[in-house]
Order: sequence, then structure tokens, then C-alpha cells
Amino acid sequence: MHACREMGIASVAVYSTVDVDSLHVKYADEAVCIGPPLSRESYLNMPRIIAAAEVTNADAIHPGYGFLAENADFSDVCHSSNIKFIGPSAEMINQMGDKNTAKATMIAAGVPVVPGSPGLVEDVAHAIEIAKKVGYPVIIKPTAGGGGKGMRVVHEESQIEKNLKTAQNEAGMAFGNSGVYIEKYLENPRHIEIQILADQHGNVIHLGERDCTVQRRHQKLIEETPSPVVSEELRAEMGAAAVAAAKAINYEGAGTIEFLVDKHKKFYFMEMNTRIQVEHPVTEQRYDVDLVREQILIAAGGSLAGKNFVPRGHSIECRINAEDPEHAFRPSPGELQVFHTPGGPGVRVDSHCYASYVVPSNYDSMIGKLIVTAHTREEAIARMSRALDEFIVVGIKTTIPFHKQVMHDPVFQSGDFDTSFLESFRFEKK
Ligand code: ADP
Repeated sequence: MHACREMGIASVAVYSTVDVDSLHVKYADEAVCIGPPLSRESYLNMPRIIAAAEVTNADAIHPGYGFLAENADFSDVCHSSNIKFIGPSAEMINQMGDKNTAKATMIAAGVPVVPGSPGLVEDVAHAIEIAKKVGYPVIIKPTAGGGGKGMRVVHEESQIEKNLKTAQNEAGMAFGNSGVYIEKYLENPRHIEIQILADQHGNVIHLGERDCTVQRRHQKLIEETPSPVVSEELRAEMGAAAVAAAKAINYEGAGTIEFLVDKHKKFYFMEMNTRIQVEHPVTEQRYDVDLVREQILIAAGGSLAGKNFVPRGHSIECRINAEDPEHAFRPSPGELQVFHTPGGPGVRVDSHCYASYVVPSNYDSMIGKLIVTAHTREEAIARMSRALDEFIVVGIKTTIPFHKQVMHDPVFQSGDFDTSFLESFRFEKK
């Protein structure tokens, strides 16, 4: 909506009854209620969303990064309703949407992938055979997965049967698809992803990497760019692989190619997100670009030819969640009696919240993103630290105190860590 306003485009927000007070509803030029809190009756309800677009005469729908953002059927329904889906076509999503198909597509495009099962795993015997081939430890992953849910690491053959069944059950319940596949579990990797943009004319560019290695239970908490471990050469190599991946499926729109990088700096394709991501602001800051504006321009048929986004400085994002770090990050919804956001040079806050807003318990616990930008990583960490000190939230528990401690942690500061970093990190109760 920020991008639309700058471009002179009117915007319409859709919301469920529980989100009536959310800032996006107030900010939009128009807002339409699409149903009760239950996602399947509102944010996942395609007929209601299309009806909202039709009554307001909308030309296009931006799907955001949750709910239907990677749903091929929804892209198709928009298309057949004569509404431009700001993102890829159903066919492109299908080639990348389910992770197992995506890996097959990437192997064909010559991109290195995490070694593992060539297809879905059917039964225990099959799983044991594959695990033996790739070598333990292995990770069982839901093909329709997301948000780090439903993955299980298995260290030995005797554990396969139990874990396979649980993984299939969990996947079925969480994603409505019980298909799972097996990968080699890379030890001590970093999660590094490449942002790409692809227009309708075959131009594909990459905007460098985001390092999302700081994770809790496979979920990202802090992201930064550039990565402290990516050299100019590695960036060029991973960028070229990401561009090749997008070209292989004639991709259109913004997308992210996720890789794991091992300690020998070898990189392996993990999955592609066919949408804008939560952590996109760090790329926007370093490359001085509005990625949503680019998405809109691409959807309108614009060309990327001649565009040159030059990187500068270092940017870090902390996810501010309504969770209690003193109690295993349990959700902490409720009224924001005070919500004072930091300011000053190089500080950006993306949030739908304000003082007196009541954080509902219905959806994701993220209440905002704090993004800072400075010349160097060291300066960015210092800036993040002071911005976190200035970020005052009263009424609920948040991850702010946790991030403050991470910013002061010598291992985080050294830049030398892997995805297991938070497992050994001790949050100190004050
Ligand atoms: P989701 O889509 O659910 O977020 P991903 O496939 O992106 O799942 O994986 C999330 C995280 O899980 C990765 O960033 C990484 O930390 C860990 N992970 C996934 N696959 C592997 C693997 N084969 N080896 C080691 N870690 C992995």
C-alpha cells in the first residue's frame, strides 16, 4: 500500500472481523470484510476475496506473503476472473510450489540440490533404503511444508519407522498433504537465500543474498545482508544459480531461491518461495529498491532491462513477535498499552500495530519487523542494539529483550555461527 500510494494507485484491504482495527485496514483507500477469524472462512476463502476485488473494481491482487500467496489455484482463479495476480502463474507455482517437484526442476536446470530421495517416500523400507544411500543423519521433510513445521531429523535406522509415521501424520494435519521426502541432514549449515526479480520479457536479475541462519526450531528470527560468509565470488556463483533456476521455469515476479551452505562453502538448493518474503526489507535497504513496487511494475508488463540496483552498506532485520522469551516463546497476545517505535538514521519499522491495538491470538505472532541499515555489520549491530532499546512495548511480552541479548553475544558479533546457534544460546531472565 505504501508503494501503491507513491504510484498513484488506489488500494483495497481485505480483513477478517478480528482484524478490523489493524493498521492495514485503516491505511487502505477502501477496506472490505471477507468473513470471520477462521482463515478458511476469510483469508483462505477465494470466492470472498474475488468478490471483494470485483465489487471494488480492483485490477490486481497482491497476495502478500502468507495464506494464498503461493497457491497455484488462487493465481489461476484470479487469471480466469480477469484480475491480475501480482506474482507468478499457476504453472510456475506448481513447478516450484511443492518442494519435491522443485528439486527435480532444479536438478534438470543443473543447480546443485541437497542430496536425497528423488521422489516422495512411500514406506518404511523405501525410507531406510534412501537414508542408507545418502548417509545419516537425514531429515524427513513435508513436501507441502512451510514455516519450519513438521521436519524431523533422524540419526539412525532404528528411528526411521517412528519418525516417518509421525512426519506423515503431522504433514497431513498441517498442510493437507501427507507427502514427505528425505534429505541428507547437513551439519552446521548456514541458510542463505538469493532474491530474484523476473519480468514478463525474460529478464531475470538477482539482488544478492540474505543470511537467515539465526533460527529457532527452523524458523527465522534475524536476517541480514550481506552475509558475513559470502564472498564476491560465492555471491556471483549463487546469484547465477538462482537466475538459472528462475529462467528454467520462465518465472515472473519476485522470488527467493533458498540454499544451505556447508562449512566448505558448497551451496545446495533447498526450495524456492514464489512470493515476497517476510525478510525482504533488508534487501530493499541495501539495494535501495522497493521490491513491492517492482512486483507491481512487473505485473503491469514493465521491463527490468537497464535497471541496475547497486548494493551499499549492511542491513539487519529482527522479527518482533508477541511471544515470551522467558517462557519458551509462548504466544503473548493482548492489548498494547504502549507501542513506541524507534527512529533516527537508518531505522525502519514495518508493523500493523499501534498503542491501544489488541494483538489477537488468531494468527501469526509477528507484530512487526525492525530493520536497521548502516555502513558496516558492526555499525548495524550497534544501531540495532540502540533501536531495540528505544522500542517500548507495554502490555504484552515480545522478543525485543531476546534480540537485545543476541546483539551483545560475541558469537553473533563474530559472524561465525550456523543454524544451531540458538540451541546453545542462553537467554538470561532479567
Ligand atoms: P520451511 O519451508 O518449512 O521453512 P525449509 O526447507 O526452508 O522449511 O527449511 C527450514 C530450515 O530447516 C532451514 O533453514 C535449515 O535450518 C533447516 N533444514 C532444512 N533442510 C535441512 C537439511 N537438509 N539439512 C540441514 N538443515 C536443514
